[in-house]
Amino acid sequence: MTMIDDRTFVIVGAGLAGAKAAETLRAEGFSGRVVLLGEETERPYERPPLSKGLLLGTAERDNVYVHAADWYRRHDVELRTATPVRAIERAGHRVRLADDSTVGYDRLLLATGAEPRRLPLPGDVAYLRTLADSQHLAGGLRDGARLVIVGAGWIGLEIAAAARERGAAVTVVETAPLPLHRVLGDRLAASFAAMHAAHGVVFHFGRQAAEFRADGVVLDDGTLCPADTVLVAVGVRPRTELARAAGLAVDDGILVDHGLRTDDPDVFAAGDVAAVDHALFGHRIRVEHWATAIDTGAAAARSMLGQEVAYDRVPYFFTDQYDLGMEYAGWIPPGAEPDLVIRGDLDGREYVAFWHDKGQVLAGMNVNVWDVNESIQELVRARVPVDPARLADPSVPLADLANA
Ligand SMILES: Cc1cc2nc3c(=O)[nH]c(=O)nc-3n(C[C@H](O)[C@H](O)[C@H](O)COP(=O)(O)OP(=O)(O)OC[C@H]3O[C@@H](n4cnc5c(N)ncnc54)[C@H](O)[C@@H]3O)c2cc1C
Repeated sequence: MTMIDDRTFVIVGAGLAGAKAAETLRAEGFSGRVVLLGEETERPYERPPLSKGLLLGTAERDNVYVHAADWYRRHDVELRTATPVRAIERAGHRVRLADDSTVGYDRLLLATGAEPRRLPLPGDVAYLRTLADSQHLAGGLRDGARLVIVGAGWIGLEIAAAARERGAAVTVVETAPLPLHRVLGDRLAASFAAMHAAHGVVFHFGRQAAEFRADGVVLDDGTLCPADTVLVAVGVRPRTELARAAGLAVDDGILVDHGLRTDDPDVFAAGDVAAVDHALFGHRIRVEHWATAIDTGAAAARSMLGQEVAYDRVPYFFTDQYDLGMEYAGWIPPGAEPDLVIRGDLDGREYVAFWHDKGQVLAGMNVNVWDVNESIQELVRARVPVDPARLADPSVPLADLANA
C-alpha cells in the first residue's frame, strides 16, 4: 500500500534553485503538496543567456526556461507566478502573500536569489537581472548605438562583448585598475582588457560614475561618456529581507549548515541567497553561479526530505565573450594570496590557469581548452600539493595530477 504524504513543502522564489528543488522533490518520490511561489510573471528560467545569446540574437527566448510550460501541471507542482511573498510567519508555519492570503508549510525553502546592487545616483539607468531587462537592453543594441557600462565584472564584460558584436559603441567604466581584477589578478585581467580593447571597447579604469545625465555619464574626473543607454553592473546583493524579518540568521546571505538548513529546522535556503557551510572547504561560502543554484536547489530538496546531505560541490562558473569560452572551478578563501601558474598560451588565449597555495590547487580556469574542467575540480577536491612545474607542463595529463 502506498502511503500518501500529507505534508506541504513551500518554495519561495521561482528561479533556477527553486525549480530544481521542486524537480528533485518529485524525482525523489515526494508525494505531498509542492507549492512554488515566484514574484516574476515568467515561469522559472535560466539567466546566463540574458547577457549572451539573447543579446546576440543567437538564443531563442523559448529555450531559456528550466521546464516546459506543462511540466508543473504534469508533476503536480503548484507554480504561482506574479505572487510575491511578503512575510514568513514561522510560529504559524505559513507564508503571507502580497494579497494578505497565506500558504501553510511543513517545510519551507527560501530561494529568493539576488538582485543588482544599485548606485546611489539619480538618473535613468538600466540593470540586467530579468528576462524583461535583457529584452529591453537587446532592443537598444543596434549599429551605432552608444552604450556605457558601469562595472567591468563578468556580466558587464559579457554585455560589452555582445554589444560590440551587435555594432554598438561600448564604453566601460571601472573603479579598479583592470576588469575582473580582484578575481583574476594583474596578468589575466590585463589579458581580458586587451581582448576587449582589440574589439573596440573603450575603458575608463580607476574612475567612477559621478552623474547620470540624459546625454550620458559624467565620471568623477569630469569626463563625459556620451550614451544612449547606461547599464550598471556592479554586482548583486542576496535577497535576504524575508529571512531577516523572520528572525533567521542572516549575514551576507541566509546562513545554512552543510545540509542547507537554517537555524530553524523546517526552513532551508539554496541558490544565490544561501551562505552554505561548505563540507569540503570548512568555510561558509555564498556563490552566485548557475551550477550552484542547480546543485544547492537539489541538495536542499533532499535535505527537506530528511536525507543526509553534506554539500561539498566545487563551485563552477562559465562565461562566453567573443570567441573566448571559459570555465572556472574552485574557491579562493578571503585574504589568500595564491600563486598563479599558466599552462598553455596566454597571449593566444588558449590556456589553463591555476591558483595554488604551495602546490595545493585552490582554483583553475580553462580558457578555450575543453574537457579539462572535471580534472580541475578533482585537483581542487584532492587538496594535496602538486608540483607547480607539472601543473604548468602541458605534456602532463591533468587527470594524472589529482591522483599523483
Ligand atoms: C545576466 C546574468 C548572466 C549570468 N550568467 C551566468 C553565467 O554565465 N554563468 C554562471 O555560472 N552564472 C551566471 N549567472 C548567475 C546565475 O544566473 C545565478 O547564480 C542563478 O540565477 C541563481 O539562481 P537562484 O534561483 O538562486 O536565484 P534567481 O535566479 O535570482 O531566482 C530567484 C527568484 O526568486 C524571486 N523572489 C525573490 N524574492 C521573492 C519573494 N519575496 N516572493 C516571491 N519570489 C521572490 C525572484 O524574483 C527570482 O525570480 C548570471 C546571472 C545573470 C543575472
